Amino acid sequence: MKRLAVLGHPVAHSRSPAMHNAALGELGLAGEWSYEAIDLAPADFKRRLRAMPAEGFVGANITVPHKGVSLALADTASETAREIGAANTLSFAAGEISADNTDAAGLLAALPVSPRGRRALVLGAGGAARAVVWALVREGAEVGVWNRTGRRASRLCEELGGRPTAAPDPNAAELIVNSTSAGLRGEDPFGELPLSADGFAPGQTVVDLVYGDRPSRLLEAAQAAGSTTVDGIEVLVRQGALSLEIWTGLPAPIDAMRTAARE
Ligand code: NAP
Repeated sequence: MKRLAVLGHPVAHSRSPAMHNAALGELGLAGEWSYEAIDLAPADFKRRLRAMPAEGFVGANITVPHKGVSLALADTASETAREIGAANTLSFAAGEISADNTDAAGLLAALPVSPRGRRALVLGAGGAARAVVWALVREGAEVGVWNRTGRRASRLCEELGGRPTAAPDPNAAELIVNSTSAGLRGEDPFGELPLSADGFAPGQTVVDLVYGDRPSRLLEAAQAAGSTTVDGIEVLVRQGALSLEIWTGLPAPIDAMRTAARE
């Protein structure tokens, strides 16, 4: 059995096992490959990661809070993972750990149009925002970055490009990406972010990486205004599809993954 897993802390809520096991079934690999969730506290991470290849693991997705340390522990890393400073996909082969980052390409795959030449506003300066800014800058968007803690936005832009902004004008943005965790614990995103519920317009694309069992308040408001919306589950599906392709070398069955992730 070739084993795969998502490693995080906490991780019980993850939709990745359902999504990847559905994909493995669709590819006819269900008897040979499996995917599970493993909760690893930071203190246990390094030791367990090193033991995984001997337990039959060939790869892993990495989520909060282990993305940075995964990159540091890997023997080799893609240019994308190195530049973003985080790994969300590890592969184990020939005694080596190789690191990749599919969060950036996953975001781009989830967008309905190319961001090239568009004005984008990214909210946040944590791990998710780093992948978003890296992807949008590299694609040729004009990227403004707002963060609650302004100096983190400045530091992110120094490293990855984009322009820090303390008082953004969301109306001027053709693409808005919420990569903060505002709204995750039921907070009102409009109380925490420089956006207003009646501030969206048709022609804008609004992405919210935060996802839960129902559409986020941010996306509900954007949809009501006629904006194009992309939710965090679609981004999750797209990054997962790219990870699966790295491990199996096969085209990922995106529809089956999306259905399983949304169930
Ligand atoms: P992180 O590194 O902990 O960063 C959190 C970010 O959110 C920081 O910029 C922080 O600002 C900001 N923030 C937190 N609470 C806030 C609030 N109440 N008001 C305004 N800003 C707030 O986390 P992360 O890894 O970047 O993840 C961020 C979110 O993206 C999470 O909800 C995560 O689940 C989601 N995510 C989704 C996907 C996907 O595929 N859909 C992938 C990755 C992450 P400060 O710097 O001021 O603290």
